[in-house]
Amino acid sequence: ELDVQDIVAWIEKSNENIQANKEYLTTLDQEIGDGDHGINMARGFQEAAAKIAEQTYTSSADVLKDTAMTLMSKVGGASGPLFGTAFLKLSTAANGMDPISYETFTNGLEEAVNGLKQRGKATEGEKTLVDVWSQMMNYFKHETDFHAETIAEKAKKAMEDTKDMMATKGRAAYFKERSVGSIDPGSASSFYIFQALADIVE
Ligand code: ADP
Ligand code: MG
Ligand code: MG
Repeated sequence: ELDVQDIVAWIEKSNENIQANKEYLTTLDQEIGDGDHGINMARGFQEAAAKIAEQTYTSSADVLKDTAMTLMSKVGGASGPLFGTAFLKLSTAANGMDPISYETFTNGLEEAVNGLKQRGKATEGEKTLVDVWSQMMNYFKHETDFHAETIAEKAKKAMEDTKDMMATKGRAAYFKERSVGSIDPGSASSFYIFQALADIVE
């Protein structure tokens, strides 16, 4: 189960991970994009963490919703509305469900994947963050409880799997075959978010 304070801690930890890896995320986006992903994500998560720190929450759904709205308006680029959508879907699933059960979180992940696919007009195997969220959703559906170590492992593997893919969506698609061999930046950010989740369920 995840209570409100766990969700707050998740966003804070996600922000820490993204700030610590801002340069790396930018390097990845320099390889197969326009080099702004680290800056975009660092700005958005900084703002989200600040917004959440300002208030006392009684509902996880509200924390997730404020995170979603902040990411949508502050991250920018292609990834802002996508991460915003993912957290908004998690918020909707969590509405009135405090504390969030494993099952509720898994339902939220499923909605998040559907939302990401719709918004990005993307599916699995196109070298986007959909690949990480989708693999995590599948993993969660085959478990019955949060296991910190496996969550982190699966997310890392899902991120690394994007390396051998050829991008067919987003800016990386312009690189065609040359996109093969680099990790997708949005998938790396998604890994940091799931790594943060692993830390808080530990
Ligand atoms: P931009 O490409 O506008 O500069 P970012 O660099 O912040 O935006 O984000 C790039 C990331 O967004 C990619 O690494 C990929 O994971 C994700 N992305 C881009 N386009 C799509 C799409 N159509 N569907 C899903 N994810 C996408
Ligand atoms: Mg970019
Ligand atoms: Mg850009």
